[in-house]
Amino acid sequence: MLKIRSGIGYDIHRIKSGNGLYIGGIKVSNDMEFISHSDGDVLIHALSDSLLGAIGEADIGELFPDSDPEFKGKESKYFLEAVMDIYRKRDIEIINIDSVIIAELPKLSPFKSEIRKKISSILGIETDRFNMKSKTKERVDDAVGNGEAIECYCVSMIRIS
Ligand SMILES: [Zn+2]
Repeated sequence: MLKIRSGIGYDIHRIKSGNGLYIGGIKVSNDMEFISHSDGDVLIHALSDSLLGAIGEADIGELFPDSDPEFKGKESKYFLEAVMDIYRKRDIEIINIDSVIIAELPKLSPFKSEIRKKISSILGIETDRFNMKSKTKERVDDAVGNGEAIECYCVSMIRIS
């Protein structure tokens, strides 16, 4: 039986002026923040959903409902760590992950290596297995193109035991 699986994750959150915007657990802006029940970290949310999707589990919205006060303002790292607990218990290996973050602002490329380091350490994998690309929407299309929201797509490939 082929034991390779893949999963896709997507997330979007609106942004506003504020005290800190976190993407991939790294502060990428001092004067913006996400409008979200948690810290709104689109990368960690899309990534967690892709890892859950690959093993046929419910997404983080279902596992950690935003109606639950326990998750209010929670650092998103918590969700990813909870997903990794499932992975470790079932002895599942992450082969690689690729992601695209779409944001007009802030400029994310200066944070890329720091984000890759942070995420791969949470996942317990080498940095080159977690990739991240940042794009803009060329200021067209929608709320993301207007700089009102940031979105993220993520694909994970894993090996089940
Ligand atoms: Zn989210």
